[in-house]
Parts: sequence; structure tokens; C-alpha cells
Amino acid sequence: ESALYVVPTPLGNLQDMSLRAVEVLKAVPWVAAEDTRHSQPLLRHFGSGARLLPAHQHNEEQAAQGVIDKLAAGEAVALVSDAGTPAVSDPGARIVARVREAGFKVVPLPGACAAVTALSASGLMAPHFLFYGFLPAKAGQRQKELEALAALPYTLVFYEAPHRVLESVEALAAAFGPERTIVFARELTKLFETIHACPLGEALEWLQADANRQRGEFVLLVEGAPEDADDGAGERVLRLLLAEGL
Ligand code: SAM
Repeated sequence: ESALYVVPTPLGNLQDMSLRAVEVLKAVPWVAAEDTRHSQPLLRHFGSGARLLPAHQHNEEQAAQGVIDKLAAGEAVALVSDAGTPAVSDPGARIVARVREAGFKVVPLPGACAAVTALSASGLMAPHFLFYGFLPAKAGQRQKELEALAALPYTLVFYEAPHRVLESVEALAAAFGPERTIVFARELTKLFETIHACPLGEALEWLQADANRQRGEFVLLVEGAPEDADDGAGERVLRLLLAEGL
């Protein structure tokens, strides 16, 4: 039976490809890929002779039709993105939706995802987490979105690009205050993997202490607001008043 297999690929360490993912890539005649040039070496590495269909974010509708045509011809297709799980801050959701609407099966494989990998090593113990993905690049919009998150008692998980990590961390500290814990999960599964936790108030200093700390790929996790956010605020005001000798 032809189906669309959603196949996560490694974040940096090729060994993180699952046995089942390799099996699927070797078995399917077609792989729809976010960037065919990027995925070609991966397919070759794992011994897959599948042919590639382009499926980047600007042609997802068209790509979906291409995938559906293959499925209708009885041929299975795998969907991959550049790294990690397709459709998680990556293209793929539209293709998956169209394929299911067209009456074909979508089979997801579990595998690498930067958010979940970072969360597992964060030590943040909230029972709930909110995956936010990328914040907007524009300062005003970013601030607005952070304000909407500030009172939520959930661990917040952000993706960030290296050239924006400094300003994002500054914005996080401004929006959430200096006390909550931030965890940097940098270069996960790679040679310079770094996991560092500190209060938001010390985060900028930590980043700036060594230029290498600002390089590579990041997941930023922030401890959620205290369950009773009002009490927290009251306590802060009280401490301020005490400090002022009032
Ligand atoms: N689909 C991917 C997933 O499942 O995690 C995410 C793709 S998104 C375009 C890329 C972002 O994921 C990066 O900017 C970074 O925030 C995060 N990321 C990807 N690989 C990472 C790694 N090795 N270490 C830390 N963060 C990573």
C-alpha cells in the first residue's frame, strides 16, 4: 500500500537516524525533500537510491500535488526536511494535510527533534511545556509576543538563529525579568554541544563572555511563570520597597 512516510533526520550526528528511518528511505522510490541538494548526500550515505522531489516552503502546494500523483500511481513517498522532524518549524504540514485529504495514509516515524532533545536535558521540571519555535525578527512584534507569554506557567521552548541570539536573550530578560531560569541548548548532538542553565539576569553576560557561545544552533528554554504569578509580583514589589528602606 502506498503511503507518505514522515521521516526525521539527524540534527548533526548521523547515528541518530533510526533503523526504521533507514529502512524506509531504502524502500521508497521517492523522497520529498526541503532541499534536494542537502538531502542527496544523506540518502547516499544510508544506501537509499530514492529519487528526490523538491518540497520547500514556497512550493508546498505544488509539492503536495506531486506527492499525491506518486501515491496515486501506487508508489510510496518519504518526506524529509533539512534536519530533525519535518513540519516542526520546517515545511511539511501542508503536504501532510493534502495527502490525507486525498485519502492516502500518512505514517509518522519518531526521531530527532531539537525541541524535545533540548527539553530532555534542560532540567526544567514543569509538567507542561509550550513549543513556540522562532520568535519574530522585528523587535516590536517580538516584544508583543513575549508579553503574551510572560504569565504562562509553562516551560517555553524557542528556536533561534545564531545571529539573533543576543538580541533575543535580551528581549527574553526584559519581558520575563531576571529571575527565571534560561537554559541554552547549543549545537545539540554535535562536537561543541553546550547545555547551560542560569538566571535570565545573567544570560547576556554568559553569552558575551566567549564569542563561541553565540555560534551554532540554539534552543532556548525558559522556566514558566510561577504558578501563582500574582504572589511572585507581590514579593518582588515587597523586596523593592524593603531595598528602598520604605
Ligand atoms: N525540524 C527541526 C526539528 O525537528 O528540530 C527544526 C528546524 S528549524 C528550521 C532549525 C532550528 O532548530 C535552529 O535554528 C535551532 O533553533 C534548532 N536546531 C536544529 N538543530 C539544532 C541543534 N543541533 N542544536 C540546537 N538547536 C538546533
